[in-house]
Amino acid sequence: MAQLSAGAEAFEPMLTIEQAAERAAERVTAVTGIETVPLAAADGRVLALDVAAPVDLPPFANSAVDGYAVRFADLAPGGTRLPLSGRVAAGSTAKGIATEAVAVRVFTGAPMPAGADTVFMQEDVALGEGTVVLPAGLKVGANARPAGEDIARGGLALAAGRRLRPQDLALLAALGVAEVTVRRRLRVAIFSTGDELNEPGAMLPPAGIYDANRSLLRALVARCGAEVVDLGILRDEPTGLAGRLREAAGHCDLILTSGGVSIGEEDHVKAAVEQVGELAFWRIAIKPGRPVALGLVAGTPLIGLPGNPVAVFVTFAFVARAVIAFLSGMAPVRLRGLPVRLGFSYRKKAGRREYVRVSLIPGPDGIAVAQKHPREGAGALTSLTETDGFLELADDLTNISEGTIAPFFAYEVLTG
Ligand code: AMP
Ligand code: MG
Repeated sequence: MAQLSAGAEAFEPMLTIEQAAERAAERVTAVTGIETVPLAAADGRVLALDVAAPVDLPPFANSAVDGYAVRFADLAPGGTRLPLSGRVAAGSTAKGIATEAVAVRVFTGAPMPAGADTVFMQEDVALGEGTVVLPAGLKVGANARPAGEDIARGGLALAAGRRLRPQDLALLAALGVAEVTVRRRLRVAIFSTGDELNEPGAMLPPAGIYDANRSLLRALVARCGAEVVDLGILRDEPTGLAGRLREAAGHCDLILTSGGVSIGEEDHVKAAVEQVGELAFWRIAIKPGRPVALGLVAGTPLIGLPGNPVAVFVTFAFVARAVIAFLSGMAPVRLRGLPVRLGFSYRKKAGRREYVRVSLIPGPDGIAVAQKHPREGAGALTSLTETDGFLELADDLTNISEGTIAPFFAYEVLTG
C-alpha cells in the first residue's frame, strides 16, 4: 500500500509548489507490487525493472536503401564502373555472395554481403550492360546500418521508473521482448464534496449544480495510468465525510477529493481528515487553487483539491499529478514549459505562482504569442475548453508587460 508517514506539521503558511512536492515525497511511499504484462497491455505502465537489450539492434548489418553494395576499397576517387553481380532482398541470405570488385544489388533491410561496407542509392547510379557507374563522393559506410548501431546487446534500453510510451513499446518489440515487469497500478479513489452537487443526467433541484469535477478527475487520473475508484458525491457533513474517507483508505492507495477544503464554515474536508488522520499542509501558493490539502487517513495519502473546476485542473496538473507519479513508482520527470511571448499585460500578487489560460497564435516573426481567455473565473469551464494551455507566471512577478517571455504548458503535456 502507498503510505504516508505520520508526524506532519499541520497549519503551516503557504508552501511553494516545490515545497509541497518535496513534503509529499518525504511522506509517501510508492506502490511496491509488480506484475508481468504482455506488450499489448503495457502502454502507460511504469517499468519496475531496467530492461537491457538482449540482442543487437539491428541484429545484423543491413542496407538502409534500395541500391548497390560495394567495398569502399574498390572505389576510385573520381567515380567507378563496377560489374554487377549478386542480388540480396530483405529477408533473404547474403551468404556466399562475393563482393570483391563488384557491385551487389541490395534492397532496404537486406543483410550486407560479407566484405561490402557502403551502399549507393539506386537513384544515384547509372546502369550499363551488366555494370553500374558509381559517382564519387560517398563516405565509407554510407547507407549501411551496422549491427547494434541503434543499441548494442547488453546496453540499457529502458530504465526502471519509466512510464512506457508507444515508442518504448516499439523498441522493446524490436528487441524481441514480449512482456515487461511493471508496477501494479495505483488505485485512486475520487470523491466530490458539496450539498449543491448532482449527477449529470439527474433533475437539477433549485440551487443545485451538476458535478463537473468527478468527470474531470476520472479522466485525468486514468490518463496518469492509475485505476479510478469513483466513490461519488459526499455531503457537507463532517462525520459522514470522515467515515467515507476512512472506508476509502482501506482499499485505495490515494484519495482525491474536490471542494470543501477552504476555510468557510461549510468546508469540512480538513476537519474530517483530522478526525480520522492528519493534515500535512493545506495551502499552496498557486492561483487558481490555493487550498490544496495533503493529509493521511489511516496511512493512505489524501489530496484535497479546491472546488472550482479550473482550480481543480490547475492543482491536479501541477501538484496532484506529481504525487500520483511518485506513488506509481515513476522516476521524477521535470515538467518544462516552452517559452512563448505574452500578447497581453498582466498584474498579479507577488508570492504565488499564477497559471493563466491562453491560446497560442503565431506572431509576426513566427514565434508563438499567448492570448489570454476573456473569462478568468476559477469556475469558468469554457476558459479551459477554448484555450490551448497554461502560461506560468513566476511567484515573484507582479507587473508583467506585453512581450514578456514566459513558460507555456500545453494541456496535452499536462494530461499525458
Ligand atoms: P468549495 O471549495 O466547496 O467552497 O467550492 C468552491 C466552488 O466550486 C463552489 O462554487 C462550488 O459549488 C464549486 N464546486 C465544488 N465542487 C464542484 C464540482 N464537483 N463540480 C462543479 N463545481 C463544484
Ligand atoms: Mg463546497
